[in-house]
Amino acid sequence: MTKTATTTPTATGGIWLLEETPVGTVFTPERLTEEHHLIDQTAEEFVSNEILPNHDRLETKDWTLARRLVSRAGELGLLATDVAEEHGGLGLDKASTVVVGTRLGQAGSFGSTFGAHTGLTILPLHCFGTDSQKRRYLGKLVSGEWVGAYCLSESSSGSDALGAKTRATRQSDGSFVLTGEKMWITNGGFADLYVVFAKVDGEAFTAFLVERDSLGVSTGKEEHKMGLHGSSTTPVILQDVNVPSENVLGDVAKGHKVAFNTLNYGRFKLAVAATGSATIAIGEAAKYAAERQQFGRPIACFGAIKHKLGEMTVRTYVVESMIYRTTGLLDSTLAGHDPADAGPLRAILEDLAAECSILKVAGSEMLHYVLDENVQIHGGNGFVKDYPAERHYRDSRVNRIFEGTNEINRLLIPGTLIRRSLAGSLPLIDAAKRLQNEIMDPPTLAAASDTPLAEQLRIVAALKKTSVLVLGLAVQRYREKISEQQELLAYAADILIDTFGAESAVLRASQAVVDAPHNESLHTDAASTYVNEAAERIQTAARSALASMDHGDTLRLNLTALRRLLKFTPVDTVSMRRRLADATVDRGGYIFR
Ligand SMILES: Cc1cc2nc3c(=O)[nH]c(=O)nc-3n(C[C@H](O)[C@H](O)[C@H](O)COP(=O)(O)OP(=O)(O)OC[C@H]3O[C@@H](n4cnc5c(N)ncnc54)[C@H](O)[C@@H]3O)c2cc1C
Repeated sequence: MTKTATTTPTATGGIWLLEETPVGTVFTPERLTEEHHLIDQTAEEFVSNEILPNHDRLETKDWTLARRLVSRAGELGLLATDVAEEHGGLGLDKASTVVVGTRLGQAGSFGSTFGAHTGLTILPLHCFGTDSQKRRYLGKLVSGEWVGAYCLSESSSGSDALGAKTRATRQSDGSFVLTGEKMWITNGGFADLYVVFAKVDGEAFTAFLVERDSLGVSTGKEEHKMGLHGSSTTPVILQDVNVPSENVLGDVAKGHKVAFNTLNYGRFKLAVAATGSATIAIGEAAKYAAERQQFGRPIACFGAIKHKLGEMTVRTYVVESMIYRTTGLLDSTLAGHDPADAGPLRAILEDLAAECSILKVAGSEMLHYVLDENVQIHGGNGFVKDYPAERHYRDSRVNRIFEGTNEINRLLIPGTLIRRSLAGSLPLIDAAKRLQNEIMDPPTLAAASDTPLAEQLRIVAALKKTSVLVLGLAVQRYREKISEQQELLAYAADILIDTFGAESAVLRASQAVVDAPHNESLHTDAASTYVNEAAERIQTAARSALASMDHGDTLRLNLTALRRLLKFTPVDTVSMRRRLADATVDRGGYIFR
């Protein structure tokens, strides 16, 4: 495997909102290379032949088997995509990581084991480790000889991660003594290396590398969970554990950098895994709908079922489009940099924090929708264990809880952009003021375009303006006190998620003329359906947001501006979803792979 690069514009988080992204410049799944497809095949065979046949055994908590499978993933190079060759990795592009992560998202509980090991242990070591830490640990983790875990949460501090009580007491020889208890730790029961967050002398939040063999480290009982029974989740207990100073990861008092940048990447990768799971469920639903007869016909013939299959496909398509667009931004920024130099990756992960949170919320909620409809299409069989739909549904619920709950991520999406705006690095307020004047000027209202995608692009431009208007007014109204307006921030987040999704989907569909001519019209159907529904949702959310900020003449003026912006004629989404559903049933699975 060699390093490959993609060609997309260099990233600046949030700037897509204020600038036009030209058609032809975004990375999409259709632009994966032959090499990516080979990596995909390796990952697919690993999941199909080695993980899924062992899934029931993993659910009995056979951690010896789990460790063996991690080590097998290591042999195949699947743990190594993010790590430089000199540290035992393959130094590949992020598109390769996405390809592998998508397949591992189809591996049930093992996907969590894999995610905590690669995204939450290998990644922070790669990004923040010293040369000697990398030499000492990365090789073992990348080969799968050792398994990693990430210990941030505590019973009294989950969302409020910086409120951790675990203490690191500095010793006269420079070492630290760690005391505390971490909760809900994935791979807790069998990991060899823990990334532990603790406060030095009760104050300075800091990350440490703690070996399982260290005196004073123990783990509690396995949690009895709703799902993910084949993944270990335990408390990790630290009783006067001596940790040498060379095992501080990053800098003392800079643990938040390690924690949050790791979570940014973790959020991105959670969405990646969600698309993998969603495509499996779409395949199950399509096959079941084709076979199951009611009233003398396969249920796939019924419009109500076509609606579900069509919408499952649309939502998966959109999240996939956002992921690949973001992957292109990551890879174009990292292209030309030495993979061993983690500085550019740290910078870009911080830069794309809002996009990573968008993906986390959109990915987990898309998956929840898809798996819920998969159960529904299976009827009574969806509720019993004989079919996998029931397990998928239970396994996925936690996606809306871990890697930052969706409430916290919703606050972060507009919060990050507003912070940049107040710091002067993202000109949101000026853009909103310009827009208010511009919207009141009737000649700026473009006529409906004649081709379907040109019309969708025009609507997307209006959605972006709506986002800027709402965000800009919110910043002007509340400035630093905006964090107290959570409901308003949540409306803004929903508008931003739908806007980024709509634009990413339409850009991808516009490129399908060249990149996927065989099913270009289905790309158009998927993107157009989403834009249509997103525009309706955005209109509702924007009206509520504006009404929460102003009243009387000001509100009426802003609502007039909104009406002028969001003038569009609905498209026939019924026919579009039917075509998507029929193609999905014909194929027996997701149609855009
Ligand atoms: C299966 C599983 C695996 C996990 N793996 C790991 C792991 O490997 N490592 C690790 O460190 N942790 C892990 N976690 C923990 C997980 O990250 C936390 O559960 C999560 O961050 C939420 O924290 P909490 O449970 O304390 O909920 P709380 O923070 O108590 O939240 C409860 C509710 O209040 C809301 N809320 C909280 N604060 C606010 C706010 N300021 N504004 C608005 N709403 C708010 C939340 O959104 C949520 O709806 C795991 C959890 C599970 C269930």
